Amino acid sequence: MRNKGFTLVELMVVVAIIIILAAILVPRYIDVTRTAKIARCQANQKTLEAANSMYMAEPANTTHSETTNLAGLAPTYIASMPSCPEGGTYTLTNAVIYCSINSHQRTF
Ligand SMILES: [Zn+2]
Repeated sequence: MRNKGFTLVELMVVVAIIIILAAILVPRYIDVTRTAKIARCQANQKTLEAANSMYMAEPANTTHSETTNLAGLAPTYIASMPSCPEGGTYTLTNAVIYCSINSHQRTF
């Protein structure tokens, strides 16, 4: 009667296939996660620019200059202050928001 179960060669083939799949999928997953974080940061930049535009258009802002206090835009012009998913900081220059992480910069 034949023994039930797997031979060592069969198990090694299965383990090799799993290792090959992991070697392909793990770097791909890391890449997709990083792309999503960059997209979120760029969306935050656009949101902050829109909030700053509302601030500049405010009649009480008689000079119609951009805000000097980004955090002050919340909660009047934006519900809450967004933050960079990778820990960068936002700065405002000439009505454009920049992230301190270079790879998060948008192309205009
Ligand atoms: Zn960022």
